[in-house]
Amino acid sequence: MKKLDYERPIINKVNAGMPDKFGMGTRVPIISHIEELAIKDIMAQYGSPLYVISESCIRKTYRQAQRAFASRYPRVQFAWSYKTNYLNAVCKIFHSEGAWAEVVSGFEYSKAIENGISGDQIIFNGPEKSKEDLERAINDGAMIHLDSLDEFYFLGELAHKLNKTAKVALRINLDAGIYPQWDRFGFNLENGEAWHVLNRVMIHDSMELLGLHTHMGTYITAVSAYAIAAKKMADLAIRLFRKFNHSVKYLDLGGGFASKNTLKGAYLPGSDTCPSFDDYAEVITSALLASELPPDRLPLLILESGRALVDDAGFMLGSVLANKRLVDGRRATVIDIGVNMLFTSFWYEHDVLPTQMKSDQTENTTIYGPLCMNIDVIREAVQFPLLQRGDAVVIPRIGAYNMTQWMQFIKLRPPVLLIDEDRNLHLIRKKETYEQFNNMEDVPEHLKT
Ligand SMILES: *Cc1c(COP(=O)(O)O)cnc(C)c1O
Repeated sequence: MKKLDYERPIINKVNAGMPDKFGMGTRVPIISHIEELAIKDIMAQYGSPLYVISESCIRKTYRQAQRAFASRYPRVQFAWSYKTNYLNAVCKIFHSEGAWAEVVSGFEYSKAIENGISGDQIIFNGPEKSKEDLERAINDGAMIHLDSLDEFYFLGELAHKLNKTAKVALRINLDAGIYPQWDRFGFNLENGEAWHVLNRVMIHDSMELLGLHTHMGTYITAVSAYAIAAKKMADLAIRLFRKFNHSVKYLDLGGGFASKNTLKGAYLPGSDTCPSFDDYAEVITSALLASELPPDRLPLLILESGRALVDDAGFMLGSVLANKRLVDGRRATVIDIGVNMLFTSFWYEHDVLPTQMKSDQTENTTIYGPLCMNIDVIREAVQFPLLQRGDAVVIPRIGAYNMTQWMQFIKLRPPVLLIDEDRNLHLIRKKETYEQFNNMEDVPEHLKT
C-alpha cells in the first residue's frame, strides 16, 4: 500500500465569522476607497469627521429611477425634494438631470430660484407658507399645493388683490393601507373633504387647478400602497373631469420610496428587502394606465422621491477616539461622529465600517458618538473589530436628511466634499467656524463688563 503524502498540520484562522440567528454572516466588510479615491488621503487633507458625496452615484440612481418610470408611462417628471438634501451642489446635479424642485418653505424656495429653477418648475408644499412666500409663488407661477382651508382662503384673497390667477394643486391624504395615516397634511379623500374643497377651488376666479397631490409617508416598502393611491388619485381626476370637464395637468404621487438602509428592528438588511424603482414604477403606472383616464389626455406623472435618490451617494468619514469596557463587560468604541451630524441613526442601523483590515476577530460592540449626552449612540450592538484611537471609520448611505437635519449641538458642523465624475474632490460646504456662530449673538450692555 502506497504511503500517503505527509502534510504538516497548520492552524488556519476561520474567517467566516459566526452567523447570527438569521443566518447572516457577521464578518465586517471594509471600505478603503470612495469612487477610487483613498479615504486616508481624503482625511489627510480635510480632517475628521467629514461628509463625502458621490456625483456619479446620484446621477446613476436618478437615471435608474427616471428609466423605471419613463419606460412605462409617457409623461414623467421628478421634482427634487429639497429638504432631503439642499446643498446647492446636490440640487444642481438633480436639476442638470432634469428634475424640478419640490420645496416646503420660503427658504427652500429661495434656494431653488438661486439654483436656476424657474417658478413654474417649483412645487411649493408644506403647512407653512407666509404672505410673502405666497405672493412670490403667485407672481412666479409656481405650483402651490394647498394644505388647509385656511391657506385656501388666504391664497384666494392674495391672488385676488394681486389680480392674478394662482396655480394650485390639492394635497390629498388617503387610506392606502399605510398606518398611521398622515392625515395632518392636506385634505382627506375618504371623508369627502378633498372633494368639498376641490369644488370650491374649481369655482374660484383667482385659482386654476393644475393637479392633485399626495405624499403618503416615507420609507414605504409596501408597493401595493402606491397602487391603491394611484388608483384613487386617477378616480378623483376622472370625477373632476365628469363634473367640470376639467383635465388636471398632473398627478403628483409624492415621495416615500424606501432607500437601502436597514430600519431599526428589521430582521433583514434594507438592501435585500427594499423594493426597486421598477417595483414602484410598475404598480403606479399600471394603476394609472388601467384607470378610466383618457389615453390621449394622460396627466403628467410627478414624483417627489427624496431619500431613495440620494441616500447611497453620501458617506460619513470619522475616526476612533477611544475603546472602553462597560460594566457589563461589553466593549464600547467611541467615534467622532455623533447623532448631531447623523440624525438618521435614530431610525437606521447604519453600517459603521473600518477602512482597512485590522483583524478578523469581531466582538459585540456599542458604538458611541463624541457628545456628552447619553443618547449619542450610533450603533447599540454590532459585531465590530478592535480599532485603535485614530483609525478611520466609514458610514455609508447617509446622503438623505443628514445634511439638512444636522444640529449645531456641542460641536460645529463638519465640511462636505463632492467627488465629481472625473474623481476630482470639491469642497461644497465649508467647515463651520467659531466666529460665524459668535457673530450672530449679542450681549446686552449691562452684562458686558
Ligand atoms: C419629504 C417629502 C418628500 C420626500 O420624501 P422621501 O420619503 O424622502 O422620498 C416628498 N414630498 C413631500 C411633500 C415631502 O414632504
